[in-house]
Amino acid sequence: MIVDSPPGQAYVSGVGRDDHLLVIGGGMAGLAAAAAAADAGARVTVVEKSDSLGGSAAMSAGIVWTAPDFQTLRRVVPGGDPALGRALIDGFWPAVEWVRSTGVSVSERWEGQMGFGSAVRVDIKSLLAAWQKKITSAAGALLLESPARKLTTDEAGRVTGATVHTPDGPRDMRADAVLLATGGFQGDPELLATFIGSGADAMLVRSNLGSVGDGFRFGREVGASASRCLDGFYGHLVPSPMAELRQDQFLELTQYYSNHCLLVNRLGRRFTDESLGDEVSNQATLRQPGSRAVLLCDERIHATHAATAPYPHGQVIDRIAAADAAGGRHASKRTMKELLDTVAAWDVHPRALAITVDQWAAAAAGDETALDISRAVRPEPFLDPPFHALEVQPAITFPFGGLRVDPDGRALDRDGVAVPGLFAAGADAGGLQDVRYVGGLVLGLVFGPRAARAAIGSSRGARREVVTNG
Ligand SMILES: Cc1cc2nc3c(=O)[nH]c(=O)nc-3n(C[C@H](O)[C@H](O)[C@H](O)COP(=O)(O)OP(=O)(O)OC[C@H]3O[C@@H](n4cnc5c(N)ncnc54)[C@H](O)[C@@H]3O)c2cc1C
Repeated sequence: MIVDSPPGQAYVSGVGRDDHLLVIGGGMAGLAAAAAAADAGARVTVVEKSDSLGGSAAMSAGIVWTAPDFQTLRRVVPGGDPALGRALIDGFWPAVEWVRSTGVSVSERWEGQMGFGSAVRVDIKSLLAAWQKKITSAAGALLLESPARKLTTDEAGRVTGATVHTPDGPRDMRADAVLLATGGFQGDPELLATFIGSGADAMLVRSNLGSVGDGFRFGREVGASASRCLDGFYGHLVPSPMAELRQDQFLELTQYYSNHCLLVNRLGRRFTDESLGDEVSNQATLRQPGSRAVLLCDERIHATHAATAPYPHGQVIDRIAAADAAGGRHASKRTMKELLDTVAAWDVHPRALAITVDQWAAAAAGDETALDISRAVRPEPFLDPPFHALEVQPAITFPFGGLRVDPDGRALDRDGVAVPGLFAAGADAGGLQDVRYVGGLVLGLVFGPRAARAAIGSSRGARREVVTNG
């Protein structure tokens, strides 16, 4: 199916303007890149696997955010590629201005997103629609239900297009450059187990279902290498047990407030600094026995942090009540003793749990030596009944690892040399974040257009070379 595109433009071959960018994946990075390519006067075709555009971006909360400056970014993700980090910081506010220029609503700026970030809320559905309009107005093509199946190359190894399974059958689509924007490998158990490790293949997936590592595999097949930070991932703790996580539950079952709670494993012990954020605790929980943990808090924490908006413009939901309604294992008790007895019956070691709770209380009262694993922020005391416990499990939205790229999205081989004609952006491009999270939508917004502009430049250069040599 072709969305709102003039007849004959879907399988273009050199009609009109001369640069043709093929974008694989119609989510945040793919549509941002294609809109920027259309702005720059290039012909662009976007192929999308599913029957609608938007990918995970269309399911998102629309918070466009990242670290406020390069120094903060390096402090938060010291293991990430500094060149990518610099490009992210330099590109963030200009990219927000570009969004504003489409006429889409952008909120006031706020600070402290995920503890340290600068953020705005964007009307994400309108933005995706505005980009689609921009692409089709420039005679670009948007093909739905059209998964790319492999890249094509010439004898010199230059990427020349892709084989795409359209509703009308397989097509070899030629292009001057190809941008991979398939959204990561969170839906592929093999890549999850290989890179993120044991238990990752059984994790619940909190994203669109089409991001199964196609971009990563396509890139590897033509010589691109993998990025650094392959074992990190973004996601959130969600209730346990739950056999599946539906799209309508993604936001309401996210336990954003866990940084205020005590988190213990089945051994009854803490295993991470909860104050670093739910997305860090989420990764640490995957690596605990049974990949399960229990969140504990009192009524003040529940009322202040678990039943309020997690960030400006966020949904106001009682997330513990929502977890309970969805079948999560939950208890609320009048005394701490009753709560601990209940949690012990969930297969959590009772004596170790009691010791951990005592250590928490001592640390909350000011004893800085009380905790085995220290916290950047002093724990909040559990004073007000009822006291709450919720069993949680990890979920993945996208991996931090992907293809190795330079700041303009050029896919790089193991020697750091660009694979000619190949680019990657969004979650297909890895290496910027390590254990902590510095943004999702922003990666597509900043790096999609950068890659598109570089791709157009590279195809013009390649054509000049052919003419000169010929
Ligand atoms: C519930 C939820 C809330 C979120 N909230 C936020 C937020 O507020 N702020 C934030 O920064 N981030 C948020 N995120 C994360 C953000 O949505 C993603 O980081 C971002 O969308 C990734 O962009 P992308 O272009 O890489 O992938 P996507 O936007 O997921 O797009 C990838 C597209 O590629 C398609 N595709 C896959 N394989 C192929 C193939 N072979 N051929 C053709 N098409 C293919 C997929 O179907 C998909 O449409 C949220 C995510 C979720 C799920």
